[in-house]
Amino acid sequence: MPAASTIRQPRRRTPTLLASLLLAAAMLPASCAWGQAAAPLGERLAEIREINRFIPERALPMLLAVEREARASSVEDKGEMLAQLCMSYQGVGRQEKALATCDELIEFGRAAKDNGALAKGLLRKGYIKYAQKELALSHALIWEAERLADTTTDVELRVRAGVSSAESFAEDGNFPRALEKTEAILAYARQHGEPVHLVIVLNSLARLYGQMREFDKGFEALAEATEAARQIDSPGRMATLKSTEYGLAVDTGQLDRALAAQSMALQLQRKIGARSLVARSLVNLSDCYLKMRDYRNAKLYSLQAIVAAQEIFDNVALATARVNLGQAYLSTGNLLEGKRSFEAGLDVFQATGDKPELQAVLAEYGSALERAGDYAGAVVAYHRERTLSNELFEKRRQQALLELQEKYNADKKQRQIVLLERENQVKSAEIDNRRLQQRIWWLLAVVFGLASLVVGLLYRKVRHANAQLFLKNQELKQQSVRDPLTSLYNRRHFQEFMRGHRVDEKRGAGTSGEEMVSALFLMDVDHFKHINDTWGHGAGDAVLIKIAASLREILRETDMIVRWGGEEFLAFLPAIPRAGLDEVARRLLGGISETSIEFQGTTLSVNVSIGFAPYPLAPDGEALPWERAVNLVDMALYMAKGHGRNRAYGVRGFANFGRTSMEEIEQNLEQAWRAGFVDLSIVTGGYPDLRASA
Ligand code: GH3
Ligand code: MG
Ligand code: MG
Repeated sequence: MPAASTIRQPRRRTPTLLASLLLAAAMLPASCAWGQAAAPLGERLAEIREINRFIPERALPMLLAVEREARASSVEDKGEMLAQLCMSYQGVGRQEKALATCDELIEFGRAAKDNGALAKGLLRKGYIKYAQKELALSHALIWEAERLADTTTDVELRVRAGVSSAESFAEDGNFPRALEKTEAILAYARQHGEPVHLVIVLNSLARLYGQMREFDKGFEALAEATEAARQIDSPGRMATLKSTEYGLAVDTGQLDRALAAQSMALQLQRKIGARSLVARSLVNLSDCYLKMRDYRNAKLYSLQAIVAAQEIFDNVALATARVNLGQAYLSTGNLLEGKRSFEAGLDVFQATGDKPELQAVLAEYGSALERAGDYAGAVVAYHRERTLSNELFEKRRQQALLELQEKYNADKKQRQIVLLERENQVKSAEIDNRRLQQRIWWLLAVVFGLASLVVGLLYRKVRHANAQLFLKNQELKQQSVRDPLTSLYNRRHFQEFMRGHRVDEKRGAGTSGEEMVSALFLMDVDHFKHINDTWGHGAGDAVLIKIAASLREILRETDMIVRWGGEEFLAFLPAIPRAGLDEVARRLLGGISETSIEFQGTTLSVNVSIGFAPYPLAPDGEALPWERAVNLVDMALYMAKGHGRNRAYGVRGFANFGRTSMEEIEQNLEQAWRAGFVDLSIVTGGYPDLRASA
């Protein structure tokens, strides 16, 4: 049985509820369907939608009339209007316009971030791509639309998207998935939808079962759909169901039932003025009659279908009608008319580039010619069919190869991605590691830097402290060896010095050949108490300071000058000619006397008394210890004091030492001197005892 001459009801154009209102609207000019007092835009658009499903050519001007208003209205209204406009354009065969409109809708949905509008746009585009035979793209669009629709609460949209999605799976040959989807959407429609939605889904389910050759279930679904359609009193929906019944009946060889169903559909479509559907029903009827070998009626309906299809520029319906007419002619022996009509139909398929359809029709043509006895024509037709078949086969093979290649590439890419990811992981671990190491180094550097800084600071502090300590020590040392008032050496220093001083007789000779010795000079200021008492203690201090300065001038730098007591000074001369001691005594007496001390407008001057001796003293060849030597000098000083002050008594040597002892001499120097045991030299100062002038 040739099947190509039957036009299955156009999928996607699943007719919906057509209320009685639609009939009224259909009778009115589009522009004044609602008069001046318009219903809310949303409602009006919903009504137009019902018209649009069956009579797009009538819906189009209505939509154009509300376009401006809808564009300025809510996202929902604008989205719905664009979706319908697209549907209308497609319905009247204006594909370019339809495509541009749904692209605009998609753009709008994206910009407005409205999943409903976006889903509608994608869905409409999916339908257009289906019509353009770009199935893969069509399916992808529809599935994406379904995903988005499911995020909305728009029942109508979700049902439509769900049904279309299931049909896409069926087209893909994935019937289990299609069935699963359809059943899911059926459950959803039962729960949330209106009867009209139930009709839509059940009709789709019936057709799916038909495709799956499970006709019983198909009829079952159809019966339930019919029941639901009855409730809503919708001739449009009923017509759709009748068309479905026609398909199922043909497929199960129930031609009478098929004829009755399609006739009923035609009647309903005519009632509502659905011209495109009418044309296709007429084609189906002609085909049905052909199957029933009722060629008279087949011709009759074919001719009617040709007229109806021409009116609405439905090329596919027109071509199929011509093929059916040709079939009828050939079957009744009219070879010429038959071939002409068949060829005309073939030309259309050729022109539209629908090769699979062309191939099927060619096969049909060949067998019709064969039956009509035109074997030569049949051979030509078969030959064309074979060529086309090979061409298609080659194309499909190439397509399959391409797909395989693509899949292989995709797999390869996937593997590369996995490898890259793994490599990436290793790399990032390495980077992390390096970063950690770097951090540790930085930390160490910082710690080391800080530690160096601290050590440096501490070191500086210690150095500074050491320097301070050194200065302090110097100061202390100074203080410990010097007298604070005169800065002369103190008595303790002298003691230490003498303890370390080796007493020997060497000395040798001076430049002039005289014997060189060391010497001790002990000086005591005369009547010093008087200075203190008369001018005050400050004056006394000033005198002491000045005497110290004078002594430094009178004596040599190598001589050691010591503040021996309060106003007593001791000089130790390390090297001096033995004969020069008196001269030094004289210089000292004179030098001090000449020293004038300015104190608060008064000029003071003082004398000193001196006891002196060479050092060491060795009365019996053995040197006296320095303490005893100093003691002896002190005794000489005492004698100088006693003999009139401002003079110097020096122990020059000892005589007749065998008759006395050192101890005896030390008891009383004066007595020893008078007894002739001690030789003294006496130097007197040249000035009065004490002078003080204002
Ligand atoms: P003379 O030695 O000639 O017998 O008489 P003098 O007045 O010097 O004798 P004395 O030893 O009794 O007096 C010494 C005085 O020197 C006693 C003391 O107050 C004073 N003196 C001792 N040390 C200092 C000093 O550092 N500064 C002052 N201004 N006076 C001092
Ligand atoms: Mg004194
Ligand atoms: Mg004195």
